Amino acid sequence: MVANKNTKEPASGAVKAQSGRSAPVITLPRVVSDRTSRRISDSVYDTLTEAIRDLRLLPGETISEPAIADWLGVSRSPVREAIARLVDLGLVTVVPQVGSYVAPISLQEVEEAAFIRSALETSAFQRAIQKDHLDTTEIQRLVDINTAAAKQGDVVTFFDTDEKLHQNVFELAGVRRIWDVVRRTKVQLDRLRRLSLPRVVSNPALVEEHQLIVDCLNSRNETLGVEVIQRHATRIFHTIEDHRSLYPDYFSD
Ligand SMILES: [Zn+2]
Repeated sequence: MVANKNTKEPASGAVKAQSGRSAPVITLPRVVSDRTSRRISDSVYDTLTEAIRDLRLLPGETISEPAIADWLGVSRSPVREAIARLVDLGLVTVVPQVGSYVAPISLQEVEEAAFIRSALETSAFQRAIQKDHLDTTEIQRLVDINTAAAKQGDVVTFFDTDEKLHQNVFELAGVRRIWDVVRRTKVQLDRLRRLSLPRVVSNPALVEEHQLIVDCLNSRNETLGVEVIQRHATRIFHTIEDHRSLYPDYFSD
């Protein structure tokens, strides 16, 4: 079964992993028999990646191939394939003779992911404001929900709408799939964001910046829009040391 070797409690709002549990913490729809092994492996990979991204699987938590196969209702082969891909991505670490566990958060990779996100979102914003017609109804709706979630301390809704409103900038630019590229590269960044959210969700600067991004789209203010997006994408670095001292076992560098 899965056991957490860390002694620190996760931040409140993070979904705490349970030790010695009998019920699964992650679920995947039972796989129908006509799916190929590759598709099953992809589903397992996606499910595990999302569980690592949102801290349902914490850094240092043991990854048990038979336990995951049992939870997800699949054979061990696709689980083994999925875990191998997670090892390649640096999200799972294998210790010979010991086992596999969720890798700690790499601050080097967090920095690189923030760089990629900032560069690509800036370009998407610049492209969006060149459009003749720019419908900001959806992004404004997402910002409104995000703002309300911040006021209520609703971390899950805040994280979800935060993702969607930034994705919407790429959709407005007509490059929706570029967001998929950004998302794949920022699992390490998202783990740190998720860890920090219970504390930073009450920071009014975050929701103010979200509204400013929409305002700059509407006014096509490139200078301010680019400044806000870059400030927003690197805000996480202000909190790194706090989190590293609170959860030293969660970080690798
Ligand atoms: Zn944001």
